[in-house]
Amino acid sequence: MEYSIKEIVGIIGAKANNLQDSTISILLTDSRRLSFPEQSLFFALKTKTNDGHRYIKELYKLRVRNFVVSDMLPEFESLQDANFLVVKDTLKALQKLAAYHRKRFNIPVIGITGSNGKTIVKEFLYQLLHREFNIVRSPRSYNSQLGVPLSVWQMSEKNTLGIFEAGISQPDEMENLRPIIAPTIGIITNIGEAHQENFISTTQKCLEKLTLFNDCEAIIYDGDDAFISNCIESACLSHKAIAWSRTDSEAPLYIEAIEKKENETVIRCTLLGLTQKYVIPFTDDASIENVIHCLAVMLFLKPTSVNGVEKFAQLEPVAMRLDVKQGINNCMLINDTYNSDINSLDIALDFQQSRHVDKNLKCTLILSDILQSGTLPKSLYKKVADLVRRKKIDRIIGIGRDLKEYGSVFDMEKEFYNTTDDFLKSPTFRQFKNELILLKGSRHFHFERISELLEKKVHETILEVNLDAVVHNFNYYRSKLKPETKMVCMVKAFGYGAGSYELAKTLQEHRCDYLAVAVADEGAELRKEGISIPIIVMNPEFSSFNVLFENNLEPEIYSFRLLDAMIKETERRGITSYPIHIKIDTGMHRLGFQPGDVPAICERLKEQSGVTARSVFSHLVGSDSSIFDDFTKKQLEIFSAAAAELENLLEYKVIKHILNSAGIERFTDYQMDMVRLGIGLYGVSASGMKGLRNVSTLRTTILQIQHVPAGDSIGYSRKTYVDRDSRIAIIPIGYADGLDRHFSNRGGEVSIGGKRCPIVGNICMDACMIDVTDTNAQEGDPVIVFGEELPVSELSDKLKTIPYEILTSVSPRVKRVYYRE
Ligand SMILES: *Cc1c(COP(=O)(O)O)cnc(C)c1O
Repeated sequence: MEYSIKEIVGIIGAKANNLQDSTISILLTDSRRLSFPEQSLFFALKTKTNDGHRYIKELYKLRVRNFVVSDMLPEFESLQDANFLVVKDTLKALQKLAAYHRKRFNIPVIGITGSNGKTIVKEFLYQLLHREFNIVRSPRSYNSQLGVPLSVWQMSEKNTLGIFEAGISQPDEMENLRPIIAPTIGIITNIGEAHQENFISTTQKCLEKLTLFNDCEAIIYDGDDAFISNCIESACLSHKAIAWSRTDSEAPLYIEAIEKKENETVIRCTLLGLTQKYVIPFTDDASIENVIHCLAVMLFLKPTSVNGVEKFAQLEPVAMRLDVKQGINNCMLINDTYNSDINSLDIALDFQQSRHVDKNLKCTLILSDILQSGTLPKSLYKKVADLVRRKKIDRIIGIGRDLKEYGSVFDMEKEFYNTTDDFLKSPTFRQFKNELILLKGSRHFHFERISELLEKKVHETILEVNLDAVVHNFNYYRSKLKPETKMVCMVKAFGYGAGSYELAKTLQEHRCDYLAVAVADEGAELRKEGISIPIIVMNPEFSSFNVLFENNLEPEIYSFRLLDAMIKETERRGITSYPIHIKIDTGMHRLGFQPGDVPAICERLKEQSGVTARSVFSHLVGSDSSIFDDFTKKQLEIFSAAAAELENLLEYKVIKHILNSAGIERFTDYQMDMVRLGIGLYGVSASGMKGLRNVSTLRTTILQIQHVPAGDSIGYSRKTYVDRDSRIAIIPIGYADGLDRHFSNRGGEVSIGGKRCPIVGNICMDACMIDVTDTNAQEGDPVIVFGEELPVSELSDKLKTIPYEILTSVSPRVKRVYYRE
């Protein structure tokens, strides 16, 4: 769909001078996602943490000519033949444009809201209905104030059904989303505690969500959920309700029986007065509930031609993640098994680009035919080829008959195969080396066979790291700070155990100002991985100067001896103004100058030109605890005075910083010019602040289950005897993996299927034993050692230590696996 820029000016009510003719088909809000500059209209959005106006010059250089701005900055005057559409609020303008676009279509639109399951319900509906409807839907979980307008913008004349998600985190937000989605059918999945911070009560949140449905013809929900039913009632929406129920045989969709078997569930229900039996390939309650919502949609839409029963049996799980894994021969694998369509390909290609920091890796795409796209293959693959070229893919391997037939449209290194089998048998398959490979396939092509063979085989115990949670935590702290306050992210000690490279890449992508490591070699490793933002080395050694200079690492300077050596070294190398960071000891009594040293430091600095004090800082000893608040205040005062004196004497601006994570949480007023974020980034709040997300999950699997008769002992030195016939699970994690031996003999627990199970016997080097008698755990089941459901702080409390030690103790032999949601 295209709009002329003149039309858009009218629709969003912008002020604009000297408009140049232009046709817009793409709305761009993230400068990193640019692929078609001429057709893009960039919205300079202001968020708590960033300001899109900053990227306009950069985008102009990349040939973008159309911008929606709220601030007409003087620097824009020089950007010739660019259109600037000036509005009061750029996000509102984007929403207005999307709402206008939506009004042009008179098709059924399903709006889905609720706390959980929105994306799953949307994707299930897509699987069930794509043969009868040409469906447009939200890509992945684009359900925010920004995601919704971008999703709706995709609507075009060929679509016959829309499915969009709406999520809110604040009162009044649904008011904005309603005209954009303008659903004709509403689904509310369920209401939980998620995103509750900004609401007075769950009722307020639910009622707010329901406003999405004010103009719907039908509203679908779980009628047995008294809370939602009451909310529907008080919102005066009951006359449109299609409440399904397991208890009320008068309900429009009555669920008579739900019968769970080993790998499937039989749902017996009365639908349109007819009793029907559906078999679905899931047994968990959430999936069953999601499927019933879909059944209710079918009841309303009454799709005719097909055998619905069969389609339910063929439902496939929805993969939400983009996994990054270490592959063989120095390859990295990104596995995206999410639905294969051009939108999700676009998103996955962006993700691949953001991971492409090490430019020595070749960018390879393994793509299957895109099925059910509703577009003719010829034009579809032309579009794909265009996209793939713009995303700088070096090599494409296409699998499927269509790709083989239309392969000539790709103008890069390419190969095509009819089937996944053909590809697996080919010589190419054994020759992957130094590549960043994106695997993107429709389910029928079973790309998991490819990824299994390309993945490096490892120990079954892994540390899973959620990169989206890292970003969330980073932004969460950022939102507590003034926009101009810089942030250092501490990735010392291998990123508190989570692994520094992937984290550093993610933080660099999200525009963190500084990284900090403990020793120079850690910094050098990050440079090798392509990290280009400034890096501070906290404990530089005299022997490491070479590594410092060669990798452009900025040392912390804590003594005159180190300062002199550093100055001498810069002079010897003929370097000037090398940035250093002056550490003042205000009571920690670890490394640092004394506050009284400041005049002498400045004197020394002024008589040389080799180094420049980039920053001055100190470290708090007890910012997490109110019992030390008097001491902390004293530290803050001593530091403020010393830093001010240093700046005065040096007569240039020096960045001042003292707060660590708990400091940011509890002494925000002392953020000064910069803060240093450590443990909070990894999801642990030292002061008990809510709102962080869990980052790392240490998980393993059950290798074997043994039946141990009452009276027998378990493990080395016979430390645990069982007093009943027991089921004992053996899991492949021991003290060599970092599982502290003090957890032996019921001193610690793991979580299996949401149930806590005690560790029994002494923990061995590579394995330990778990009592699973009270569960129905099976061999092969996943086991969580720590994670969301078993917080690190619980483990550290048991050992009378701190979460930092648990996180950094996970041995390097435990593979780190990174993912985005
Ligand atoms: C490790 C460290 C931090 C981060 O501390 P957290 O408590 O993890 O936030 C900050 N500053 C210095 C000097 C550090 O060594």
